[in-house]
Amino acid sequence: MEYTAGQGWHDPVIKPYGPISISPAAMCLHYGQEVFEGMKAYRADDGRVLLFRPEENFKRLNRSNKRMCIPPIDEELALCSLKKLVDLDRDWIPKAKDSSLYIRPFIIATEGKLGVKSSDSYLFIILLSPSGPYYASGLDPVKIYVESSYVRAVRGGTGEAKTGGNYASALIAQEEAHEQDYAQVLWLDGVERKYIEEVGAMNIFFVIDGEVVTPALNGSILPGITRKSTIELLQSWGQKVSERRISIQEIADAYDAGKLTECFGTGTAAVISPVGELKWQDKVMPIGGGQIGAISQKLYDTLTGIQWGRLDGPAGWSVDIDA
Ligand code: PMP
Repeated sequence: MEYTAGQGWHDPVIKPYGPISISPAAMCLHYGQEVFEGMKAYRADDGRVLLFRPEENFKRLNRSNKRMCIPPIDEELALCSLKKLVDLDRDWIPKAKDSSLYIRPFIIATEGKLGVKSSDSYLFIILLSPSGPYYASGLDPVKIYVESSYVRAVRGGTGEAKTGGNYASALIAQEEAHEQDYAQVLWLDGVERKYIEEVGAMNIFFVIDGEVVTPALNGSILPGITRKSTIELLQSWGQKVSERRISIQEIADAYDAGKLTECFGTGTAAVISPVGELKWQDKVMPIGGGQIGAISQKLYDTLTGIQWGRLDGPAGWSVDIDA
């Protein structure tokens, strides 16, 4: 679907996957004016095709749009177009266990102009791609490196928007962490490098002395849909969740006191990703003795159960594309 000044968003079309043509001066290429989302379609055992809380993705896309000076999309039209697209690609949704159809909605600024301003034309595209299981053989704890030099986001910046620049600036830290055999980077706040923010493509939770804690949304953290769902599920089980500022020193102290019993990331790709080790400067903190924590496991089983239609979730979480 295109946006042009005067006409707004118009003419949604469905096309086979293939190259697109944009001006070499397109503003998205030079000034990073673009936003995106990540979601999945799941094939249930009874044949239904389900989306997980898709309205949340389109709401977040519009919040990202606002931050990046991109005109808002019609969220209902976007969901309706997505359902049609997934219906058309129904046969591409893998049948293998834990596989799904990955969905990538994105908007790019297409005006060809060498000067910094917001574009007067845009393309909104939704592309789909079959995706295999995240875990080859069940949940597997990951090792995470706490980043002390580079910064992902600062308050007032674009951290809470899903825009490519956040990921580009994170690459160098991710590559350095990979060289040291760490799967992901845990970001600290951009000012004092003291407070925990989030992981590369996940939000983060800790279980300290039986209490579940996660960094509060502060403007520089992406408000994850899995994070929100995790908090709502835990609360529905009577488990208190504290959303607050958490310093890395607090985590190190809890570890030393034997009170840090679980740590896990949340995100669309991994759903729940247990963390088996955190490294902060010279301090290596193995967590859970190589085992998956009970809370992480229960959350994973429940969320994936709802996503693949094996369990009933709260009203509105599962959207049947035929309904
Ligand atoms: N933080 C970042 C930076 C991410 O890219 C993602 C993945 N979208 C998340 C958190 C988790 O968000 P969600 O649960 O909506 O996938």
